[in-house]
Amino acid sequence: MTTAFNPSSKPIIYPNVSLSPHTSYRVGGKAQWYAAPRNWDQLQATFEWFQKQDIPLMLLGAGSNLLISDHGIEGLVLSTRYLRHRHFDEATGRVTVAAGQPIVSVAWQAAKRGWSGLEWAVGIPGTVGGAVVMNAGAHNQCTADSLVSAVVVSPDGKVETLTPEELNYSYRTSALQGGQRLVIEATFQLQPGFTREEITTTTQENLWKRKRSQPYDKPSCGSVFRNPSPYAAGWLIEQLGLKGYRVGDAEVSQRHANFILNCGQAKAEDIFRLIHHIQEKVQTHWSLLLEPEVKILGEFSAL
Ligand SMILES: Cc1cc2nc3c(=O)[nH]c(=O)nc-3n(C[C@H](O)[C@H](O)[C@H](O)COP(=O)(O)OP(=O)(O)OC[C@H]3O[C@@H](n4cnc5c(N)ncnc54)[C@H](O)[C@@H]3O)c2cc1C
Repeated sequence: MTTAFNPSSKPIIYPNVSLSPHTSYRVGGKAQWYAAPRNWDQLQATFEWFQKQDIPLMLLGAGSNLLISDHGIEGLVLSTRYLRHRHFDEATGRVTVAAGQPIVSVAWQAAKRGWSGLEWAVGIPGTVGGAVVMNAGAHNQCTADSLVSAVVVSPDGKVETLTPEELNYSYRTSALQGGQRLVIEATFQLQPGFTREEITTTTQENLWKRKRSQPYDKPSCGSVFRNPSPYAAGWLIEQLGLKGYRVGDAEVSQRHANFILNCGQAKAEDIFRLIHHIQEKVQTHWSLLLEPEVKILGEFSAL
């Protein structure tokens, strides 16, 4: 599907917006420009405005996998947080959801219908758009397992419906990462026919498992590093005695060593330095390069 824009409303774009409330780490400087369109018309108008500027574009979901520089982000930060709608199709077992919908809420609504397929997604504090781009996953399942298609729009107004093959999925990555195509909607194939109790029980158990093993009481981005197969990044870090290690108010979680927590007033720079310290230690001891899963954006000091 390819259509053109037909702008009919004014964009709502704000200058100098602090991004720290828009990230789960609660750190980061200001966006030079920030827009969070509430509907298709506002999105079209925002892209029209953007096309006339000569500035970079950064796409933002719930900010739960981002480390944004204390110096902020140059250009336009475009958030999907207010793009929300969903439709459960009883005839096909498919659910079509707007990009800004929290993936957790879709998982619980599916569970309450007795539809299986998203039980893994509880506890992931991101949006549907972020899950599609990151190929978010847990409990040996991931977004790619049930995604049928994703609708994306480019700044020039080109709309495409992409299949999982076109998204080129693999572990926590997709063809959309680092690009300018905005996910606006996604369709998942679920399996109806279970009881509400069956699916909500599994979903609740998954949530408890996470809460037992992961810290949810302080700001974080979830797992900081990708697991360097066949090892778990958290295990490698824990073996080096780094649990509790701090740079400023950034701390390696005592509960799960692949989590870095903001224990109060951490700066993005503190978290960045801690990431670097962990990488150095792991490289020296295990001869393995830990690759960040968190997206590091903006300017940081050279280490
Ligand atoms: C406590 C905690 C637990 C977590 N547990 C897990 C876990 O178990 N499994 C897991 O996979 N992740 C986990 N995460 C990480 C994070 O929640 C996921 O990566 C999530 O999918 C990110 O979604 P988001 O909307 O927050 O995206 P953001 O963090 O806002 O963005 C992530 C990337 O996607 C891009 N993006 C976001 N929305 C769009 C869009 N609509 N169109 C195009 N690009 C977009 C951004 O530009 C960025 O590159 C956890 C995070 C936290 C804080």
